[in-house]
Amino acid sequence: MIENLTRLEAALSLAEEKLNKQNLPGSMTKRWKRALEKAKERLIEQPFFSWQNNRLLLVSMPNKKIGETECKFYEATPTECRRIDKDGLCQAFFEGFPCWHRAAFLLLQIYFDTKSEMPFAKMENAPKYEGVNCS
Ligand SMILES: [Zn+2]
Repeated sequence: MIENLTRLEAALSLAEEKLNKQNLPGSMTKRWKRALEKAKERLIEQPFFSWQNNRLLLVSMPNKKIGETECKFYEATPTECRRIDKDGLCQAFFEGFPCWHRAAFLLLQIYFDTKSEMPFAKMENAPKYEGVNCS
């Protein structure tokens, strides 16, 4: 769930800033921008994803306008994007183009950059397990 839209907007600006520094051909920059915009919209309207640090699992809802009936499942990582409901890569990624799945990965990577705000120290205070000890 995206709970902080301002933070997501900020992530988008930051991602675009990074993109502009990449010196990509103009057409690629444009495609990435479109992918990022789409990712932002989808993350808000269809927030069906699981963010796992360096891995994003997400569900792409069928586009009824073009006759799609089934959801597609994707796994985006920093290096690739693959379909997990099928064996193979995401079509756009396979063709060497940006896809909104990896754009979403980028946005969430910035969005969830909570290193300083989310200490792992919590474990110490976790309730003790009081059931049978099987070990
Ligand atoms: Zn993809």
